Amino acid sequence: MIAAVDIGGTKIAVGMVDDDGRLLKRLETPTAADLGYAKALDRTADLLRQVAHNTGTEITGIGIGSTGPVDPFSGEIGDVNFLPGWQGSPIVADLSRLFRVKVAMENDADAAALGEAGWGAGKNKARLIFGGGIILDGKLYRGVEHAHPEIGHHVIDVSGPACLCGFHGCWESLASGPAMAGWMKAESPPNYPHRENLSAKKVCELAQSGDALARRAVEREAYYLGLGLANLVVLFTPDAIVLGGSVMKGAHLFLEGIGKVIAGSCRYVPFEKTELALASLGEDANLIGAARVWHHRFASGGQSDH
Ligand SMILES: [Zn+2]
Repeated sequence: MIAAVDIGGTKIAVGMVDDDGRLLKRLETPTAADLGYAKALDRTADLLRQVAHNTGTEITGIGIGSTGPVDPFSGEIGDVNFLPGWQGSPIVADLSRLFRVKVAMENDADAAALGEAGWGAGKNKARLIFGGGIILDGKLYRGVEHAHPEIGHHVIDVSGPACLCGFHGCWESLASGPAMAGWMKAESPPNYPHRENLSAKKVCELAQSGDALARRAVEREAYYLGLGLANLVVLFTPDAIVLGGSVMKGAHLFLEGIGKVIAGSCRYVPFEKTELALASLGEDANLIGAARVWHHRFASGGQSDH
């Protein structure tokens, strides 16, 4: 059975995932990046042995999703903010040597997209976009030198806030949970009772209960989400775009507004054929996606070429 490893800045999760994408068991350990890669590798290998033992299964392959950048073909960790000093660490080769199985790695966004495409909301959809991952004809799209496109950093408002990437008004800086909560806080009068504890979840709850300012915040969020999604529809005309993340826990508040923007701006493409689907793998999407990385690379018809 395929084991999955999800490497994040704060924790590393491992699990066993069956061929239908079901997670049998999950274990995790703090990443403790500052203690170094070698120690984290030891702990990860221990957890993998435990999870196989606990589920009474044998590890026949390992898939990894990691906070990026990573090099999916050399199998090395890149220059990752959350993993200082880990650059060049050959985690694919190391796990492959320790467990004597084939190992594949992608960045976590691509892993999650592969998971939703293979086992989740995008099942049986050939062309799909989820988060930062683009799947075309069942294969993960890669840019020059395997670069991972940054969908969150396409510009939707040139007069928007400056971003670390160099642009102003990136999609993710305007259409995100924190952006929505931040806007509402900035717009709220000093005596507004919920001013100090506004999160995306809270804004959605307030909008649901009829709070006028929260409804404006939701409308604005839906507009920016819609603009970015409309751009993706126009550029890729995919079968599906899978929506996830904290904001989409209140999806019903946004979908109508999103639909209006798309219908009002995508007339040269068959926009009504692109399904907007909600992510379906839940909290374990990254771990399940990590297992799917292995299937995508090595199962029949997999993407083994560079
Ligand atoms: Zn940006």
